[in-house]
Amino acid sequence: MKNLSDKMQQCFSQSTMMLLKRVGAISKHMGCKAYLIGGTVRDLFLCKENLDIDIVIEGDAIHFGERLAHELHGIIISHKRFGTCTVTTPEYIKIDFATARRETYAKPAALPTVEFSSFRDDLTRRDFTVNAMAISLNEEGFGNLIDFFDGVGDIEKKQIKVLHDKSFVDDPTRILRGIRLEKRLGFTVEPHTANLMRKSIEKEIYKRVQAPRLRDEIILTLKEKELFHTIKRMDEFRALKIVHPYLKLHEDLSGTFTAIDEACSWYNDNSPRKRSIEKWLIYLMVLFNDVSYDGTLYFCNKFELKRGERLRMISYKRQSSKVLKTLNAKRKILPSKIYRLLEPLSHEVTLLLMAVSRSGLGKGRIMEFFHKYNGMRTAVKGDDIKALGVKAGPHFAKIVEKILYKKLNGILNNREEELEYAKKLAKRRL
Ligand code: ATP
Repeated sequence: MKNLSDKMQQCFSQSTMMLLKRVGAISKHMGCKAYLIGGTVRDLFLCKENLDIDIVIEGDAIHFGERLAHELHGIIISHKRFGTCTVTTPEYIKIDFATARRETYAKPAALPTVEFSSFRDDLTRRDFTVNAMAISLNEEGFGNLIDFFDGVGDIEKKQIKVLHDKSFVDDPTRILRGIRLEKRLGFTVEPHTANLMRKSIEKEIYKRVQAPRLRDEIILTLKEKELFHTIKRMDEFRALKIVHPYLKLHEDLSGTFTAIDEACSWYNDNSPRKRSIEKWLIYLMVLFNDVSYDGTLYFCNKFELKRGERLRMISYKRQSSKVLKTLNAKRKILPSKIYRLLEPLSHEVTLLLMAVSRSGLGKGRIMEFFHKYNGMRTAVKGDDIKALGVKAGPHFAKIVEKILYKKLNGILNNREEELEYAKKLAKRRL
């Protein structure tokens, strides 16, 4: 049996190693067995650091996690229904514990019936051979590799292979997982697995999967580094229809993705008001370019996107061409007009407009918006306006807006000038 202790020592940090040894000691004490599993083991062979540590316990994983959290003064979050828990150590190492389980599928793509079971059964339910290896953490045999399905052989052959022929029928989300893994690792889906994948897609078994499960895999896919190649591969497998039947791979998609990357890096380097950007959503908006408004809305509802995500998808669909036309126009545009167009939009929508704007003029105006106008406030405050006798209401809001627009246009340059102007506006209604 292959022992990987030395490799673990080389690739894992000292604190991770100490933690894994501690897990081994606890398992001896509790009379159960603990195994490192999944992506952590796969990535160890590729000498890539995987910060998610997955451990399977042959025994009660929640009890196990509680004990570890207690010993390390860590934090535990448990999910009793699934027999799982996550322990976060004071050094912020995150470990997911699961109780070994077996799954059976009553119907294709149905949610599996889960039973707690042996460790071997647990490995048999995994998606691909490279993800079905484990390393013993038990004191006797610490570092021993368990590889029932020749995952190591497939890592050497650089291939993604399923464990059995019904894999994509049982769980079509594995189609997206397989494509993602192939592109991320620079592997190839081996021919028989590729055929099974094609058959499952052809039969549209994915339609029976619970939409939120598919959505989660779609979002993870959109977060991949090699996104264009991943989308291209999905197209080769005709798997884009899993997302939406009208998605197409356009010739210029690679260029558009690059332009999105550039716009986001520009934003991160230059925008004075940094807010984290949901880049995956920008890619999704662009993939939906050919899909109608109704089709986009249907997608958002079916996959239960969050309200904010839905609003951004829809506002891009509704507003992009009108806003772009104005921003790309050669005539002079007042800053207040640019502000009015862009301020109501989310940063994701605005960055996508920047990426797809064909003219330097449009791009420049968006950059200026981020640099200067976004989040601009008047120097006079609400109390100043109240002191002029204006009551809260539409007139009050109009005054603030008018002052802001004049400030954006460079007509009002300080608080005194703003206050003077506010007095004039207030008098008009008094
Ligand atoms: P990464 O997190 O780096 O993308 P990972 O392999 O750790 O890769 P997770 O989604 O965290 O991916 O899943 C952990 C493990 O759980 C996988 O390695 C795999 O063994 C198993 N797994 C996850 N999803 C499925 C699935 N749909 N069918 C079967 N096994 C799965």
